[in-house]
Amino acid sequence: MTADEIKTMNLSDLIQLGEFSCSCGKKHSPGVAKVIIDKGAVKVLPALLEEIGAKKPFLLSGHDTFAAAGETVCSVLEAAGYSYTKYVFPVSPVRPTEYTVGSALMHFDYSCDAIIGIGSGVINDTAKMIARATGMKYIIVATAPSMDGFVAGTSSMDRDGLKTSIYSKAAWAVVGDLDILCNAPMHLLRAGVGDILAKITSLVEWQLASVIVGEDYCEVTAALVERALKQVMDQAEKLLERDPDAVRAVMEGLVIAGIGMNYAGVSRPASGMEHYFSHIWDMRSLAFEGVPFEQHGIQAGLGTLYTLMAYETFQKGGYRPEWERARKFVESFSLEDWNRKLLAFIGPGAEAMIEGENREHKYDVAKHKARFGVIEKNWDRIVEIIRTLPPSGEIRALMESIGFPTSASIIGYDDEQVKTTFTMTKDIRDKYVGTRLFWDLGILDEIADRTFTPKR
Ligand SMILES: [Zn+2]
Ligand SMILES: [Zn+2]
Repeated sequence: MTADEIKTMNLSDLIQLGEFSCSCGKKHSPGVAKVIIDKGAVKVLPALLEEIGAKKPFLLSGHDTFAAAGETVCSVLEAAGYSYTKYVFPVSPVRPTEYTVGSALMHFDYSCDAIIGIGSGVINDTAKMIARATGMKYIIVATAPSMDGFVAGTSSMDRDGLKTSIYSKAAWAVVGDLDILCNAPMHLLRAGVGDILAKITSLVEWQLASVIVGEDYCEVTAALVERALKQVMDQAEKLLERDPDAVRAVMEGLVIAGIGMNYAGVSRPASGMEHYFSHIWDMRSLAFEGVPFEQHGIQAGLGTLYTLMAYETFQKGGYRPEWERARKFVESFSLEDWNRKLLAFIGPGAEAMIEGENREHKYDVAKHKARFGVIEKNWDRIVEIIRTLPPSGEIRALMESIGFPTSASIIGYDDEQVKTTFTMTKDIRDKYVGTRLFWDLGILDEIADRTFTPKR
């Protein structure tokens, strides 16, 4: 399998291909057995249940998502003679917290032998947690093509107030009924595009991390995710008309991006600095009364635009690695002060981030010096990788053309707060992202000011 070959495979070929030995030395597996994206796809549910020998599924859904697809699912099951137990979360919106997982488990019916999630983001993440806890096979009936986590074997959860990725259980089957997906709220269709746009920056940062900190990189997986990105960008404008082909392309693109994460075994191909903007906003909204949040894909799309703007500042600045500048910057960096800032801006979720640094030692001066050496040695390559990013204006125009918000002011953030968010994206996970590169070079504050402080 080569990068060029995988780009030409359609979704069913990919599923059929199953596990394969890759030129990167790893074995890759799609992690999902069935993906049915079609008009009236919900009708295949009885056949899917039969295939896994399930007699009584447990249905997990949210209020809105049950209204969108729940009745149809129930009537299809009833017509086929299946009994089921259902739990519809009484609260809206449902947040991916300990409470939500606990609530689903406490309503779980252990006489059931399979799980059907009816929803997208949070419902899917929660149902995957329950599927892992119970060991049962899991089918997701998607109600919106709004994010790329349908087939991922991890759940994006808020644990102890920190946005974290927890190993759960990938869906055995994804059912994307176009009659349902085409009628999803426009906001959620846009969110799906936003979560895919994030791949523009996450793929570049994956390459940077492979050069600077030696992270495993797979060309075949990157090519696959890139192809998902292209497929969605090409169709984005037709989404406004709810064109079934466009909705299908976006849904397939999201599933393919998820397969890419399963290939890599980590979220790296699909998630980088741009996602950390979103994570920080989610954590703030959990921590502080009255702080609003948006759909994951909307926030990730905004994060992508801001990330592109920062890389653009970097490119325009004509920076070079200068040891004296980097050394002075790092020596004047006070971890104590920084941790205080993290806690004040992010709230209790920052405690786990601070805890993370105790294990990672990313701010350790000796480690910094070693990384700086690698950066200096590979400078041309680093610049070349960053140069592959599209201009932010191009992506902004695409976003505007589909009515996608282009400023975090929609969730109440001013420029100063966006700038603070940007500087904190390096602390979310032990992952090498752009803000870490800028910190290593001693130019983080300068890039932040130049990008996010409007000229007066
Ligand atoms: Zn590979
Ligand atoms: Zn995402």
